[in-house]
Formats: sequence, structure tokens, C-alpha cells
Amino acid sequence: MGLLLKLILILLKLLGLKNKSIMITSEFELIKRYFTKKNRQTKLGIGDDAAIIQIQKNHELVISSDMLVEGIHFIKNTNPSHLGWKSLAVNLSDISAMGAQPKWATLSISLPKVDPIWLKKFSQGFFKCAKKFNIDLIGGDTTKGPLSISITIMGEIKKNKSLLRSGAQIGDDIWVTGELGNASMGLACLQRKLKLSPTLKTKCIKSLQTPVPKVFFGLTLPRYAKSCIDVSDGLIQDLTHITKSSKVGATLFIEKIPCNAAIKTSKKYHYALNGGDDYELLFTAPKKYSSHIQKISKKTKIITTRIGVITNQPSISILDRHGKLVSFKNKGYDHFA
Ligand code: ADP
Ligand code: MG
Repeated sequence: MGLLLKLILILLKLLGLKNKSIMITSEFELIKRYFTKKNRQTKLGIGDDAAIIQIQKNHELVISSDMLVEGIHFIKNTNPSHLGWKSLAVNLSDISAMGAQPKWATLSISLPKVDPIWLKKFSQGFFKCAKKFNIDLIGGDTTKGPLSISITIMGEIKKNKSLLRSGAQIGDDIWVTGELGNASMGLACLQRKLKLSPTLKTKCIKSLQTPVPKVFFGLTLPRYAKSCIDVSDGLIQDLTHITKSSKVGATLFIEKIPCNAAIKTSKKYHYALNGGDDYELLFTAPKKYSSHIQKISKKTKIITTRIGVITNQPSISILDRHGKLVSFKNKGYDHFA
């Protein structure tokens, strides 16, 4: 390469313009450049008509899919790197809610156009999450169309150990990881419907854009928990999935629900009760395991709070600190004053 050409390339790189000069002339080139990485736990990955995975003896395959569509699950012009992270993270959360070890993913993506800078950032975000949680991308599909991302995630668990929504038992404690309501507050901020202090705003937007799935914590749960779900649609709605499937009821203690100070002081509990996109784990476990759960919480550095108890009532009730019933709505706005 001539010295002048080299200098020009270096200059373009410094200016961040090099990617713009990349011409992707086929679907296969695109897949190879952005989505093909070395696999660590896969017999046959990207490149053939199908992938092949070998699962361990006496284990089961746990499978889930989640789709993210522009304008519905994320707003236009979302940072592509955050989108790459989030589209894998929300899928990992589902496998963790089963108590399983996520291992393999397929990625089907529909793109309005080939934008090398967008693709580079998206794949960087995706593979950052994949690396952190040791996931192999083993296949997928790429088409032209409105921006949408569909991921299928597969994981492994020892036979009959999966945590189902239907396993909750009367008397179980109800636990939740992390804080609830941050992601929906972040969305409200972006939509200019809510004003927060700069620090809290940053934290909430981060929760919305790059949620962290509770993978390592989820792996420890089958030993103690009876049922589990990830909070993607709001605490009440997701707890209702557990109570309905398990044919039980629940009592929650409003003061115990972990949420940020802005929710507590303004009593805007609807963010914590009905806000979506938190990707925390909500699970039930017999009382006798409470110290074990606190221990794994410490070990994994995941805050875990006991927020209520499973009852034989037909529904969910929420109590204030005086034991008085708090009125709430399953969805949408509610007031606690
Ligand atoms: P086919 O025509 O048999 O469906 P494709 O040409 O669509 O195969 O895909 C070629 C290979 O690239 C396959 O292994 C497929 O799983 C993989 N692949 C396609 N799109 C993606 C993507 N977005 N991410 C990861 N792998 C992909
Ligand atoms: Mg195809």
C-alpha cells in the first residue's frame, strides 16, 4: 500500500469515517462481518443450513424468544449499541427466570438499509452482553424491512429442575431482586413526562436501555425457590401470572417494595407496581430458606428483598405499614394518597 493511501486511511479512522467507506455488497458478507464470532460451546455454528448443539446428559433444553420492534419496544434512533445489548439481555432474563444456564442464541434481524456504522455498534453491544454471559450466537436470519430484532435463546438445566410459574405454595415468601420502577421512570423522562434529578435520571435511563439480566443469581434459585418469573410487564401483572398459574393469592407490603427515593417520597408507587422493562427476578420460596437467599444475595451482590407472602386468598392485596389495605390498579394509573 502506498504511503499516501495509508496516511489517508489512518486519517479517516481518526475521524471515525472509515466505516462509511465499507461497502457491504451481500447478505452473506454482512453476516460474516458483523455476526460471526468464534463459538465456545457449539458443535456447528453459523454458516450451514442449521446449527448443531450438543446438550449434556440428564439435562433439558430451555428455549425462549423475544422480539423488539422499533416504535413499539424501543424508540426511533435508539443507540444501536444499547439496542444490541438489550435485545440479548431481555432474552437472557427469561432463561434466568427458569433457573437455567443460557448458552446459545439465534438472531433474526430485519433492517431498513445496510448502515455499517449502525451494524458495527449494534453487534458490539450484542457481543458485549454475549461475552459477559458466555453466549454463542449460532445462527439467525437477515432480511430487509422495518427495523425489528428477534432473538431465540436456548439454555440448559438439569432434568426437572426448572422453576415454573405454577410452583408457588401457600406460605412462601415473595422475593424480588434489584429495584422496581426505574426503567419506566427512565422512559417517562425520555418522553418528557417526568422530571428527575440528573443522577436519578441517568440511573433510570440506564436501567431502561441496558438492563442487566440476573443470570448468575437465577442459576442458584432452583435449590430454594418454588416459582419464578422475570418482571418485564410490571410487578403486579407478573405476580398475577404466578398466582393464577399456582392457584394461590398474595399479600404485598408496600413499604418493602424496593424502589428509588423519588418513588418513595412522592408515593408514585405505580412506577414500581405497574412499570415494565425492569428484568428483575420475582420468585417465591419457603420461609426456611430465607437466610440462604440472603446469603446468595450477598455473594452475587444482587440486592434481594422479601416483599410479601403467598396466601390462600383468590387475589393480590397490598398492605401499608399499619396493615391497612392499599388500593391499586393492575394496570395504568393508580393513587395511594
Ligand atoms: P438459509 O438460506 O439456509 O436460511 P442464510 O443464508 O439465511 O441461510 O444464512 C446463512 C447462515 O448465516 C446460517 O447459518 C444462518 O443461521 C446465519 N445467519 C443469518 N443471519 C444471521 C444473523 N443475523 N445472525 C447470526 N447468524 C445469521
Ligand atoms: Mg435465511
